[in-house]
Amino acid sequence: MQRIDKIYINGQFVTPHGEEWFSLYNPATEEVIGQVRLADAEDAKHAIAAAKAALPAFSRTSKAERIALLTRMRDALAARKDDLAEAIIEEYGAPAARSGWMTDFPVMAIESAIEQLKSYEFEKQAGNARVLMTPVGVAGLITPWNSDAGFICGKLATALSAGCTAVIKPSEMSALQTQIVTEALHAAGLPAGVFNIVTGRGEVVGAEMSNSNDVAKISFTGSTATGKAILRSAAESFKRVTLELGGKSPTIILDDANIEEAVPLAIAAGFINSGQACIAGTRILVPESRKVEFETALAQVVSQTHSGDPRDQHTDIGPMVSQKQWDRVQHYIQLGIDEGARVLSGGVGRPEGMVRGWCVKPTLFTDVRNDMTIAREEIFGPVLSIISYRDEAEAITIANDTQYGLSALVLTGNKARGARVAEQIESGRVLINTLEHEPKAPFGGVKHSGIGREMGVWGLEAFLEPKAILAAK
Ligand code: NAD
Repeated sequence: MQRIDKIYINGQFVTPHGEEWFSLYNPATEEVIGQVRLADAEDAKHAIAAAKAALPAFSRTSKAERIALLTRMRDALAARKDDLAEAIIEEYGAPAARSGWMTDFPVMAIESAIEQLKSYEFEKQAGNARVLMTPVGVAGLITPWNSDAGFICGKLATALSAGCTAVIKPSEMSALQTQIVTEALHAAGLPAGVFNIVTGRGEVVGAEMSNSNDVAKISFTGSTATGKAILRSAAESFKRVTLELGGKSPTIILDDANIEEAVPLAIAAGFINSGQACIAGTRILVPESRKVEFETALAQVVSQTHSGDPRDQHTDIGPMVSQKQWDRVQHYIQLGIDEGARVLSGGVGRPEGMVRGWCVKPTLFTDVRNDMTIAREEIFGPVLSIISYRDEAEAITIANDTQYGLSALVLTGNKARGARVAEQIESGRVLINTLEHEPKAPFGGVKHSGIGREMGVWGLEAFLEPKAILAAK
């Protein structure tokens, strides 16, 4: 049983003012594996003050100094990979293959930030004006539980690249992973106050950050509902915001797609991160003319998808992160049945033979209409819906008929056609016949999937304010 009783402020591990203890669970066994003492609003204020005090000196550091610091940060994270991998399985329940990627992701995210910083010019010329790209100020970074270390490191590395100092509010459910990240960042020897980590409740610590006049920007990844709350409070102080929110991503299988190639990609897109992914392709659009063929092939893969113990090498889908998340997924599966969708594989309850652990049956529905709740709301679990369409135009209409717009996948035998369809999809990112990630490209959503972009030059500039200086000739 681990007890985490410190938060990190001004270069030191300190006892929080907050006195609430929060239980940490192993989602595969439902056992309590730790306790974390949560920060409160008072702690958030101290963290913000420390970041504010560190800002003047840090914002004047050179590009070379920041690159050196980010390099130390990257190496320190790399040195803790094994510990992080263990915590990701224990506390989050990611199956082996996924936990490997989640362990590498923080290091890759810092590396991408370093590459971006190397090539970035902080001074530009616009006509007669010098344009200085200046750090926006203290950044509040608020992250979810579904990729704790990756989001903390990606956001922090970008904020520091820009010359901002930061207060990080990770999910309270990821305290074991956060502890390892904090220890690594401490070992990297960053100047005191440049980053501060206060694990606490969102409506307490997160709200204090979005209300504070001393926080100039919030970079948030999480649910659309929380994103709206942050946007409202940010208005009071004209805070800059980057909001990475939910999704209900379409996978459009065009009628010329090769079934052997398309089906594994469609399932992998839908079941990414055990279905607990903002980008998960949960609406699978198939041509009416090939509906039965795709139903059969998709159902065959889903029925062979193993949901269970994350430590079992054969497991594809790990448990849901919490009882609440398990209940939520069960609710939506039952709702799909009640709404008249047909279960091709899976259904309510635990996988056969399991009596504990928050595992769900990988579930595939067909005969789903796009106006059904299971096609409109983010389920955040391994539940996929097949929706049929008559022609390409209707496929595009259905794909776009959603309040979300984070990611989309087009599967086709014709690249040019895929590109033409991709251009018509309302989404921050569209993939064609691939699930590859490109860290140099912007990432973020349209509509209720968010505001702004992370990654690449777009991500860096989201932490910068242009200042134009004009002098008499
Ligand atoms: P959440 O919105 O409940 O919580 C995210 C973070 O916000 C947590 O740290 C939480 O404590 C904090 N928070 C909660 N209330 C707050 C408030 N009032 N003010 C400030 N902060 C507050 O989301 P979650 O359940 O942790 O994560 C799942 C959600 O995240 C899903 O909707 C998913 O789609 C989304 N997500 C989006 C992306 C993306 O890049 N677009 C990536 C991963 C997850």
